[in-house]
Amino acid sequence: HATTLTLDTAVFDLIQKEKERQTHGLELIASENYVSEQVMRAQGSILTNKYAEGLPGKRYYGGCEVVDQIEQLAIDRAKQLFGVEWVNVQPHSGAQANAAVMLAVLQPGDKILGFDLSHGGHLTHGSPVNFSGKLYRPSFYGVEPETGLIDWQKVKETARREQPKLIICGASAYSRDWDYQALREAADEVGALLLADISHPSGLIAKGLLNSPFEHCHIVTTTTHKTLRGPRGGLIMLGKDFENPFGLKTPKGEIRMMSSLLDGAVFPGTQGGPLEHVIGAKAVAFGEALSDAYTEYTHQVIRNAQALANGFLERGYQIISGGTDNHLMLIDLRSKGLTGKLAENTLIKADITINKNMVPFDDKSPFVTSGMRIGSAAVTTRGLKETDMARIVGFIDEVLTHNADDARILRVRGEINEWMQQYPLFS
Ligand code: PLP
Repeated sequence: HATTLTLDTAVFDLIQKEKERQTHGLELIASENYVSEQVMRAQGSILTNKYAEGLPGKRYYGGCEVVDQIEQLAIDRAKQLFGVEWVNVQPHSGAQANAAVMLAVLQPGDKILGFDLSHGGHLTHGSPVNFSGKLYRPSFYGVEPETGLIDWQKVKETARREQPKLIICGASAYSRDWDYQALREAADEVGALLLADISHPSGLIAKGLLNSPFEHCHIVTTTTHKTLRGPRGGLIMLGKDFENPFGLKTPKGEIRMMSSLLDGAVFPGTQGGPLEHVIGAKAVAFGEALSDAYTEYTHQVIRNAQALANGFLERGYQIISGGTDNHLMLIDLRSKGLTGKLAENTLIKADITINKNMVPFDDKSPFVTSGMRIGSAAVTTRGLKETDMARIVGFIDEVLTHNADDARILRVRGEINEWMQQYPLFS
């Protein structure tokens, strides 16, 4: 560098502290994971210096020969991993991916139908505080109070009543699988497009462990950093309905292919230059996800989630829907006389990281909540197995049961810190 580099200790000391935090404790936030060192190396590389507006081979900047190859690798690997026909790897995040899809296929004021945020949906599926609820007219489906499950017939009825242009499925806190076929029937009946946001379980879907949305959903989005174990970012994919199914028109009246509408909605529609360092890291992560080791990882993620769920059920905790098909579960703490806020704040004292979460039909505010969401993706990357999950549930139950006993919580923390030393994450 032209100027002599002195390390910015203000920042790097804090990064070191964060590394210790991530290493010492039990990471159970369902949307988090630990990426590999080569993913971090790509993301922290000189690729960050490059402007590359456009797509591989069609850029608005010179000097893109190398990043073109990198982005093409990311595209080819994502297509192979998910078995899809088309992908855009540029969305900076999951929210950006969803924004681009809506910009591509909707006009402001169009009706959308999504899974209720307070039942486990995501902000970008029509919440009034999000662009999706401000620019479009949202309506919602949810879970049944008795079962905690989505009733697909009721979704069809809601679609008939609301006549949305876009139906969105996928969630941040739904532990069961999705009936994409039923949702497609609902969409076809009202002439809507169907978007699946598989941000949470995308790694499990890639490996065929859950229903595939690609057969039935016109468009699929995902984040790359949850079960997929890549850098923070988003993807947009087209599986089966590659050709424009409804003759979507541009403002000038031309009929355009869905892929070209989506590309244009990412750039220049909602983003400027793509983050080629992140795209490089996505390519590395997709390469890893194509490996047998990752396949085994995804199987273990589900085994671990089920071991966690069984452990909680045995200790009398109430899991929404009674269990899990994927990597996460939502626990209603009301039967234990606890709130999500208290659980989150108490568990963190023992270096156990979870997040408080609304449960369906919650009577508390989003800042308090009645639930906690727990996921197995990160602890599985760490190397923990089913028997370890039983131990984790034991620790959580001990801390929550004795939530005013700081000495006891500190003792648990000590045990966890010592235990985690046996599972080093980074060299
Ligand atoms: N969609 C779903 C279902 C999510 O769970 C999330 C993240 O929590 C997002 C979209 C948004 O992703 P990001 O935080 O990368 O914008």
